[in-house]
Amino acid sequence: MSRAENSYTPRSTHFISNLIEADRQNGKWGGRVETRFPPEPNGYLHYGHAKSICLNFGIAEAFGGACHLRFDDTNPTKEEQEYVDAIIESVQWLGYDWGEHLYFASDYFDTMAACAESLIRAGKAYVDSLSAEDMRAYRGTLTEPGKDSPFRTRSIEENLDLFARMKAGEFPDGTHILRAKIDMASPNINLRDPAIYRIRHAHHHRTGDRWCVYPMYTFAHPIEDAIENITHSLCTLEFEDQRPFYDWLLEQLAEAGFFPRPLPRQIEFARLNLTYVVLSKRKLVQLVTEGHVDGWDDPRMPTLVGARRRGFTPEGFRLFAERAGVSKSDGWIDMSVLEECMREHLNDSAERRVAVLDPLRLIITNYPEGQSEQCFAPNHPLKPELGSREMPLSRELWIEREDFMETPVKGFRRLFPGNKVRLRYGYVVECTGCEKDAEGNVIAVTCEYFPDSKSGTPGADTYKVKGNLHWVSVAHACQAEVRLYDRLFAHPQPGQRREGDAPEFERDFLDDINPDAKRCLVAQLEPALAQVAPESRYQFERHGYFVADRVDSRPGAPVFNRTVTLKDSWQKSNS
Ligand code: ATP
Ligand code: MG
Repeated sequence: MSRAENSYTPRSTHFISNLIEADRQNGKWGGRVETRFPPEPNGYLHYGHAKSICLNFGIAEAFGGACHLRFDDTNPTKEEQEYVDAIIESVQWLGYDWGEHLYFASDYFDTMAACAESLIRAGKAYVDSLSAEDMRAYRGTLTEPGKDSPFRTRSIEENLDLFARMKAGEFPDGTHILRAKIDMASPNINLRDPAIYRIRHAHHHRTGDRWCVYPMYTFAHPIEDAIENITHSLCTLEFEDQRPFYDWLLEQLAEAGFFPRPLPRQIEFARLNLTYVVLSKRKLVQLVTEGHVDGWDDPRMPTLVGARRRGFTPEGFRLFAERAGVSKSDGWIDMSVLEECMREHLNDSAERRVAVLDPLRLIITNYPEGQSEQCFAPNHPLKPELGSREMPLSRELWIEREDFMETPVKGFRRLFPGNKVRLRYGYVVECTGCEKDAEGNVIAVTCEYFPDSKSGTPGADTYKVKGNLHWVSVAHACQAEVRLYDRLFAHPQPGQRREGDAPEFERDFLDDINPDAKRCLVAQLEPALAQVAPESRYQFERHGYFVADRVDSRPGAPVFNRTVTLKDSWQKSNS
């Protein structure tokens, strides 16, 4: 990450980069830009987080600033080290570097408690002892003001004493709560004396049993930003109504000398909503725990660990973040946009290979038995510098079952008796018939080849044929498992009611799972694919983009996952 002074090179400008640029022009924070990506380690990152990561790290890169990776681990009951590790791996995988700026909110618990005490001393916070039920009733509604708790007038001394005893573990969960003292009649419910510290006798994955009070997210987050000298705190729109509290709190704490001005600035943007997936942690957990998928890194899952196994690329995600843009109003982005970004990157970067996914034997009856020869296939049609590879050809080849029809339908240009096609990078052959088993299933196709028709030789051009088939030599092929992945849900907005649903029918997002999102095949691969390393990505000609599975694939025993098809097949079939 370059830190070049005053070198803002806009990648894409949007309202956030414009606001930041204006702040820089005004010399706020001395032109410094510091952002953060603040995941809560209570689940795996998903495609939506990728948008936030690309935005925060992208802004830091563009303005020559830094972006922090901060774990917002203030809720001990839901957080785990497993998630911390997975999140670190995913952000790194996306290609971002936080340098020395790796932080944990739990490292600030002492400061946070000191901030809370300072608010109490200033008469800006009090310990409330209403039951949760009463507290809700006292809060009022959107249309009615709340009313003061009878405990609101506790003295500063009493509040300090109670908070100290809350911290010391004298009280059970839920008996007392520390609240900011702002305004119970505020039209903004978030300013009606929000809770800032609660009692929770729980083990924390980093601080162990040291604490039995934990700060509320809305109290902790602004303090975390201020401690880290964040300039622009970017968050999703649901926090817009929290901004007045964010500003109120930091004002009080700046007043008390905790933080220098200017204070961090919160800016909200619309979260990513993507069709054909769900991006709610609760639903993602449900998919995993109920076994609808094979774990968090199932290639069908919209998690970043799933995306990686699927063969999606960091470059594709960055391109997607650019295209999806940043806006202030909620909307949906179609899954095809993300898939197209992956295709674009893979089309450019992935070498071509040949795989037969539904193998049928083709016998070249006039080709000598036991003989073989090399054909040469370019690794990338647009990049001759990537060279070519050898593909052995012999008497028996694997072709796709769908490339033969005994009785062709109209317009069929591939193999049928009497028709000529080119074996890509090899010879022109003429189909002579087929062999069947006792049930009448075609088990082999027969043909004859024209020895002077080999691709790349002088006579080849005199043969004009319409079909051009891919193939793999039976004697040289590498048999492998190939998994065809597709969209996890068959409906753009899983679980949403739609026309024709009976009034009493409650559609569940699980009802919309696409049963064909995973299909496992035994395929025949060209020999060059036998030794590939896990995570190697290829275009299988005519089939799409594939990746060697990072978990199950090994050199000598490859397993491939389909990342995306070559073309979008959903637009026509589902619109
Ligand atoms: P939770 O309900 O558990 O808070 P979350 O999805 O907000 O779920 P966080 O770990 O808090 O999860 O998210 C980290 C950051 O990613 C936050 O800044 C959040 O605003 C952002 N983020 C989460 N989901 C999306 C999304 N769909 N689009 C854009 N940003 C998102
Ligand atoms: Mg959140």
